Formats: sequence, structure tokens, C-alpha cells
Amino acid sequence: MAMLTCPECKGKISDKAASCPNCGCVIRKKRRGCMVFIVLLMLFSVGMCYFFYEQPASKPGQTKQPDKIAPEGPTKQDQIERMLLASGEVFPLRCYIQDNMMNNPKSYEHVQTTFIDKGDFLLVETTFRGTNKFGAVVRNKVVANVSLKGDVLKIISAE
Ligand SMILES: [Zn+2]
Repeated sequence: MAMLTCPECKGKISDKAASCPNCGCVIRKKRRGCMVFIVLLMLFSVGMCYFFYEQPASKPGQTKQPDKIAPEGPTKQDQIERMLLASGEVFPLRCYIQDNMMNNPKSYEHVQTTFIDKGDFLLVETTFRGTNKFGAVVRNKVVANVSLKGDVLKIISAE
């Protein structure tokens, strides 16, 4: 049986005693458990502080970007890149040309594509080769507006 020192009279008391037999001072039996609890609570609080502190600390750089981008889903850059093929072609326009402007879609051969970002749409200029109705390979240049969603809005010129 461990002995405690009475905080009042400094006498020895059994750790099982509820109060000091000498002075009647009430002994907090769970003092040690209490201390452990308090230490744990403090560690927990420190942990929580650290946790909450770390959030804002790591956020400033990250939160700003999601705030700008997240509500609208993919960024404009994403939308543009989604339409581009490795060759640099704007895929929806290529499909449009093959489906609507060629006698022989299979003869389509990409030469060069450039585009200008016009805000809501791209002004695309693409040059390709293909066979005409006489079977001769001809070079064509098409200028068109293509929306960011991938719709060919308007063929501006085809030559
Ligand atoms: Zn005492």
C-alpha cells in the first residue's frame, strides 16, 4: 500500500484513505489519474492546436486556386487541352471537316493547326490534305470558331 503525504499537515496517509486521519483534509484519491488525464488533455489540446494551425498554414497557397477553379469544374485550359490531339489538331474541327467538307474523309491528312483564344471560343485555322471528288490530293485551309465545349460554331472560311 502506497503512502501519500497530506498536503495540509504533511503527515503520512494511506492512498486508500478518503481523508487525512490527522487533520481531516480530504484527499483526492484520483489525483494521479487526474494528473494523467490533465496531461493527456493538454497533449490533446496541443495536438488540436497544431492540427488547426497547420490547416490555415498550408491552405493559403492551395485554397486560392480551388476557390477560383472548383465552382466551374474544368478550367478553360483543361477544356482546350481536351480538344487538342498530339498533332496539335483541334479534334472537333477535324471531325467536322471529315464529316462535312470532304469527299473522302479517310484521305484526311493533317498539315498544320493554329488557334487563337477568343475568350468563349477558339479561332482555329487548320490546314489539311485530302482527295477531292476527282481523286486528286488537294490542300485545304479551314478557319472556324470552335467553342470550348467542342462545338464547331461557325466556318469562317474554307479554301
Ligand atoms: Zn493531514
